[in-house]
Amino acid sequence: MQLKTKDIKSVLKRGDFEYPVMESFYTIQGEGKYQGHAAYFIRLGGCDVGCHWCDVKESWPVDTHPVKSVDTLLAEALTYPGRIVVITGGEPLMHDLHALTESFQEAGFRTHIETSGVCEEFTGSWDWICFSPKKFKEPNTRILPHVDELKVVIYHASDVEWANDWVDKINPNAYRYLQPEWSKQASMNPLIVDFVKANPSWQISVQTHKFLQIP
Ligand code: SF4
Repeated sequence: MQLKTKDIKSVLKRGDFEYPVMESFYTIQGEGKYQGHAAYFIRLGGCDVGCHWCDVKESWPVDTHPVKSVDTLLAEALTYPGRIVVITGGEPLMHDLHALTESFQEAGFRTHIETSGVCEEFTGSWDWICFSPKKFKEPNTRILPHVDELKVVIYHASDVEWANDWVDKINPNAYRYLQPEWSKQASMNPLIVDFVKANPSWQISVQTHKFLQIP
């Protein structure tokens, strides 16, 4: 059952709140500012952004994934020693994330999200917001002041300048990352290296989990 947070207080205990989960696993965060840190990932089902290079297209349907309760996810996460939870997708903000994030924070986790920012609703209680805008669907501006990390996937040379256009729109203290799309590294890496050398407020993010051959 999926309800808005205002409803669950009267109907469900927070731990009973359920989400469609494509997969959940304990691994190493491979990208961005927290690259190299152990973290429990929860990949929620549902995304309508439609990136043609998406490497998790199985996540797109919202109704084909098993639902798991907050209590079930938390119990699984607590079997591991890491205390970062990364909520990803799909597009996780398609769901009301208050119950999930507040429960994990109460249990001592840092709550991190990876989002394209396209959704109208911006729910949850967050310690780290990674905003990864996509050309294929315009983000909602509500998220922009809260961004801790801007991460733009570079598939085409023109994506570098498109990424740079976001700088004046987001929290000015946000970290800025350019990340080559996995299949385009050979052609995009030289452009990214040159850009970061000329614009040192940016950094390079590579998908280290793929080099390590871990989830
Ligand atoms: Fe895939 Fe993310 Fe793009 Fe959705 S926003 S299509 S999950 S890469």
